[in-house]
Amino acid sequence: MKIAVDGPAGAGKSTVARLVAERLGLRYLDTGAMYRALTLEALRRGVDTSDENALMEVATSIDLNIVFQGDKGNVIYLGGEDVTGLIRQPDVTAHVSEVSSHRKVREFIVALQDQIGRQGSVVMDGRDIGTVVMPDADWKIFLQATVEERARRRQAELLRRGVSVDIEEIQEQIRARDYLDSTRDNSPLRKAKDAVEIDTTSLTIEEVVDKVLGLIRGEEQDVQHSGGNY
Ligand code: C5P
Repeated sequence: MKIAVDGPAGAGKSTVARLVAERLGLRYLDTGAMYRALTLEALRRGVDTSDENALMEVATSIDLNIVFQGDKGNVIYLGGEDVTGLIRQPDVTAHVSEVSSHRKVREFIVALQDQIGRQGSVVMDGRDIGTVVMPDADWKIFLQATVEERARRRQAELLRRGVSVDIEEIQEQIRARDYLDSTRDNSPLRKAKDAVEIDTTSLTIEEVVDKVLGLIRGEEQDVQHSGGNY
């Protein structure tokens, strides 16, 4: 079974996708983490993130390893170093949308995701999973939430990690990332025609997970799955 979970930053994709995968006993792949790991390495090497060819040199020379660890989600290793926490740093977040906008970079990373998809059942979360990476997914979920709510969630998440950031600043960053992700030429953030949209603004994580599981088990009445390919 292949399940695609897409949506903008902070809509709850990774937590929901990880929990759905866990409940169904499937692998979970956080595709954003792959773009983030590349961004981290590019910044470490002092590479200009607008330079597509320089980024490709980084992409083709890194040793990226993703370990599927059940309830911990994905553990990301770069050359043997666990960078799972480091790839969430503000500096990486600020540059990742530019890195991921380059066509060659996307083709390279999508090919890796495609390989993982072919290895068996998986839940993948990202921006282009239902449209590009797994257009033949059995289920396509598109999560949405207001910018205000997404910023509030991101602020709470940062606070849990001991980082205090002004809510206005987070909202600005989210708007900027939404804009870059949805207006880029190469596989922009877009809801697949046959995706089921869930507005998570006033729902808890558990409620969203239940909705997705209900949908897959055919218990959910108020949303329609049109089936077929994108
Ligand atoms: O999901 P996350 O916020 O960690 O993703 C970080 C960034 O990676 C996104 O803002 C987007 O620019 C890029 N991304 C993408 N395609 C994906 C997953 C993430 O372009 N499938």
